[in-house]
Amino acid sequence: MSVKDLTKLHPILLNRIEELRKQCDKHGLRIGFSDAVRNREEQNRLYAQGRTTPGSIVTYVQYPNSQHNWGIAVDFFIFVKDKNGKDVASYEINTMNQVGMIAQNIGLGWGGNWRPIDRPHLYLPNWGSTPGLLIREFGSPDKFFASWSEKETQSNVVVPKENIKPTVPILRIGATGDDVKALQANLNRHGAKLKVDGVFGQLTDRAVRDFQSRRGLVVDGSVGALTQAELRKEPSLFFPKGTGLGFVDALNSIKVDSSFANRRRIANANGIPFYTGSARHNTTLRDLLITGKLKRP
Ligand SMILES: [Zn+2]
Repeated sequence: MSVKDLTKLHPILLNRIEELRKQCDKHGLRIGFSDAVRNREEQNRLYAQGRTTPGSIVTYVQYPNSQHNWGIAVDFFIFVKDKNGKDVASYEINTMNQVGMIAQNIGLGWGGNWRPIDRPHLYLPNWGSTPGLLIREFGSPDKFFASWSEKETQSNVVVPKENIKPTVPILRIGATGDDVKALQANLNRHGAKLKVDGVFGQLTDRAVRDFQSRRGLVVDGSVGALTQAELRKEPSLFFPKGTGLGFVDALNSIKVDSSFANRRRIANANGIPFYTGSARHNTTLRDLLITGKLKRP
């Protein structure tokens, strides 16, 4: 976790944090970087902290679920002078926020928009706010590292944006507060049975993942703009418990009459006028059901 690790960062991130350093200089802010790339051992040691080893909890994720495992994130701090004129690290909130705004202007993602807030955290936003897409596309960080091209290494261009729109806070496990209450109420509208207590714990995480899976979203338990947009849509008529179920089991799981007669009524309402109970018909209906598109008979 020393600064030499910076060289292992994605080349585009490296360029952007150099640009960030320059822009901060202009504002009289001096920034430093701490955590950069974490390997499996480092991530899991950090995950153990506050759980099986002493200290307080500092991360909610195990390898390879942190952006730090993929070389696309870095944590920053502010340099200030102590009373002896020595440089020390500071995490003063207003200054961190100022750096966060500058960072977003040059195309970096900022953990200050996350709930829970992770103010020191800067990342390349190309793959969203979690490594979900990277895991799907590359499988392991090593394969991702191997894919970094010469071209990217030389890409230097940073186009500062004029204005930054306020971003939607990204909610994830560990978040608390009114945003989480609204989320829980919304998940309940879509069939979850959560206590609306404003605490994003394991149950809320499971409900989010279940919802994401049913709606064909990336299943990462992280609620950003896409998941919020999907949550604002009309709730599905039915709320099956799992996605690996057949049509009959799916209906049973949500206590809907799965008799042939009722399935035929449902089929009729969903564009299958001559329902035979065939595997093909059932699969079609099951898919409509689990994606929330099944119409009421
Ligand atoms: Zn971080």
